[in-house]
Amino acid sequence: MTASLLAHRAFIGLGSNLDNPIARVIEAITALDQLPLCRVVKQSPLYLSTPVGPQDQDDFVNAVVELHSAYTPLALLDQLQRLEQQQRRVRLRHWGPRTLDLDLLLYDGLTLLSPRLEIPHREMLRRVFVWAPLLDIAPHATLPDGRALATLVPLDDRAQLKVISSHATR
Ligand code: AMP
Repeated sequence: MTASLLAHRAFIGLGSNLDNPIARVIEAITALDQLPLCRVVKQSPLYLSTPVGPQDQDDFVNAVVELHSAYTPLALLDQLQRLEQQQRRVRLRHWGPRTLDLDLLLYDGLTLLSPRLEIPHREMLRRVFVWAPLLDIAPHATLPDGRALATLVPLDDRAQLKVISSHATR
């Protein structure tokens, strides 16, 4: 697959807080890059964040990657869900611990509201561990309505995140 056929640009949020989460996130990034119709073109640093919801669980490791892809949005979601299953995704309760969570955040300039898939991701602007790494790799990212992401989030909240590896960007 030549790069010119990977015409779509998507951002994926990754999170894990079980079973060696740094390794889980790095493995997932490699797996995304190895999908037949995908290349990872940018990778944020890895961050540590406190869990949303129940606090009696470990901190999460989070990152965001930019993909160039030939998958349609739903085909890409299928691939994300397959990778979650492959990593033996454990999800014991809502907002509870999980081996791997992959969210499709943005896909080109698309707005989509379907039973299985909502783009932009519904919680994106409310979660510092999503928008901060996204802005690291795409400081000028916009929502489908043209508004700049950086103008819509409380940038000072980035101080809540701990960088655990800045080895990132491709
Ligand atoms: P969660 O485990 O909280 O990430 O939620 C997974 C569910 O959200 C799945 O049933 C997906 O079909 C649905 N979903 C809706 N929009 C998205 C999105 N943008 N990215 C990933 N999953 C999504």
